[in-house]
Amino acid sequence: MYSLGIDVGSTQTKGVLLDNGDIIKTCIIGAGTGSVSSKKIIDRLFEDKQYNRNDVGIVVTTGYGRNNFDESDIQISELTAHSIGVCSCVDRVGTIIDIGGQDVKVMEIVDNKLKNFVMNDKCAAGTGRFLDMIARVFELEVSELGALAKKSTETVAISSVCTVFAESEIISHLSSGKKIEDICNGLLRSVALRAAGLTGRLFLSGKIVMSGGVAKNSGVVAWLSKEMKQEIVVPDNCEFMGAIGAAIYGEKKLRRDRK
Ligand code: ADP
Repeated sequence: MYSLGIDVGSTQTKGVLLDNGDIIKTCIIGAGTGSVSSKKIIDRLFEDKQYNRNDVGIVVTTGYGRNNFDESDIQISELTAHSIGVCSCVDRVGTIIDIGGQDVKVMEIVDNKLKNFVMNDKCAAGTGRFLDMIARVFELEVSELGALAKKSTETVAISSVCTVFAESEIISHLSSGKKIEDICNGLLRSVALRAAGLTGRLFLSGKIVMSGGVAKNSGVVAWLSKEMKQEIVVPDNCEFMGAIGAAIYGEKKLRRDRK
């Protein structure tokens, strides 16, 4: 029996099919929340008939929209899901920084268990949504921001702490002749500084691991590493950590039920 983990995020929905501890298939779609995106994930995972939907023994959902899918057997919090997912891929985890579409969470991990956390879910600045907005202003894909920032030779300081004001600040920097890569670098720095600011409230030990979609942004990761004076580990499949954690949770439940 397979375990299916679905992370119904605010911007993307991720699915992971697990067979006896092995990830056998993943799927991501660029739409979050609501039951439609979870249904789509299931359709996509099984459309090529490589695996059979009827062989799924349990569906565990996590993420912002976890309660809105009627095929879900169990719902778990994103904190639980990310901590299980990351600890299954990385050893000696001390801190997890998860920057998603609409919030930033920092988790303190002791002996592979979540001990404490802080989060910012009050403001879009410093989240993936903020980066999506910046990409639109630059007429780029969000996946291009990291490479763009790498070309920067002089970081432009961004002073606005609000998404709306930051947008007008970008436009005024652009019209005053500042280079797009320098502005971009400054914006990625501001996102990293916000996340690093949250970690200050936790006890830091062991490896610092980044999960969530924004971990794919090499500029944010580089600034975060610089600010925290430590290497930041980014697992492969960083954006799937919540879905992986949900699937692992489901597999453990299946095993317990079988006993
Ligand atoms: P959620 O679970 O809330 O939907 P995710 O953890 O999936 O959030 O992260 C979504 C964010 O990740 C997007 O808003 C975007 O900024 C960022 N992102 C997604 N894919 C990439 C990519 N290929 N490169 C850089 N950033 C990305």
